Amino acid sequence: MRFKRFIFRSVLLAVTLPLLTACNPIHGRTEAYSKSFFAMDTYMTFTVYDDNAEDARAALACAQEEIDALEALIAVTDAQSDIYAVNHGGGQPVAIQERTAELLSFALRMAQETGGALEPTLYPVLSAWGFTTDENRIPPGDQIDGLLESVGYDRVQVTDDGVTMADGMMLDLGSVGKGYAGDRAEQILREKGIDSAVLDIGGNIQAVGTKPDGSDWKLGLRSPFGEGIFGTLQIADKAVVTSGNYERYFIGEDGVRYGHILDPKTGYPVDNGLASVTVIAKEGKVCDALSTALFVMGLENAVRYWRSRQEEQPFDMILVTEEKEVYVTEEIKDRFNLMKEYSSMPVHQIALSE
Ligand code: ADP
Ligand code: MG
Repeated sequence: MRFKRFIFRSVLLAVTLPLLTACNPIHGRTEAYSKSFFAMDTYMTFTVYDDNAEDARAALACAQEEIDALEALIAVTDAQSDIYAVNHGGGQPVAIQERTAELLSFALRMAQETGGALEPTLYPVLSAWGFTTDENRIPPGDQIDGLLESVGYDRVQVTDDGVTMADGMMLDLGSVGKGYAGDRAEQILREKGIDSAVLDIGGNIQAVGTKPDGSDWKLGLRSPFGEGIFGTLQIADKAVVTSGNYERYFIGEDGVRYGHILDPKTGYPVDNGLASVTVIAKEGKVCDALSTALFVMGLENAVRYWRSRQEEQPFDMILVTEEKEVYVTEEIKDRFNLMKEYSSMPVHQIALSE
């Protein structure tokens, strides 16, 4: 069985970052300061723009500290983490930290809002496929059916006493953790006086404010069909998160490609004609939850969901189909441009009314 996994999982590349490192910074002039590190199973690069080198580096260190602390709370395999404790609670209530509770409650709410397309208790099925250990296999159908009995976000109880789940159920916040990490990092940086930054969280981008000159950031959207970027997106003060089955997948002995995002209704990898879903919104956690959920829903249901949410929780999206067509919500249309090599891709606009 061949397994393919890229260590650098960048879906989006910030393509117009000027000066990634600052040598001999002159006080009073805005320079770029970067910090790269490995956390949450991916590479992160935070770049902040500031006129004081010491302040910038101190802010970067605090942001990284926050990410490490968050990872320690939610890592499924870390025996010290909150999530590990809940997963081994044997049906008893388990007390968790405030930040874990905030993220868990958010994930459960999004699971409900997306009709279970986002499923934070899918871990036993993901494990059976080997997506949690990179030792991939195609589980027998009856094993998947059996494991699906331990899946159900609506059977997780969060009360003042802690979190309670039936024995055998397992939580995994992997589909929202990196988005939330972006929100936390942004908050820390802002508290430290940074108001212009780009956070690359394993390909998810959190753009803080604008570029130092007040203009938009220009991001490259990675093509789901190969190397390189297929389009660019100009944004300010937004998170941009992509989900797809083209980065983490394996080819089974049957020659079929199996991706790491599963349809919680069947327990099998999503195969609905979508190649990727990019979500653009203020909060990283919302983008992360929705990119996974909309990828599960498929084109039609994703568009329906988008229309139903525009009053309460507005967001934008860019959907790419396996047929190489692009669907873009109307607000973002003028901010999105295809690269020359991809200019033959049809771009459809998604409007509020049908
Ligand atoms: P990534 O983390 O690869 O950038 P996502 O945010 O889309 O991408 O999260 C996918 C991860 O979430 C998978 O690696 C898997 O651990 C888990 N997962 C897969 N399918 C689902 C699902 N339907 N609901 C919730 N989590 C899922
Ligand atoms: Mg996600």
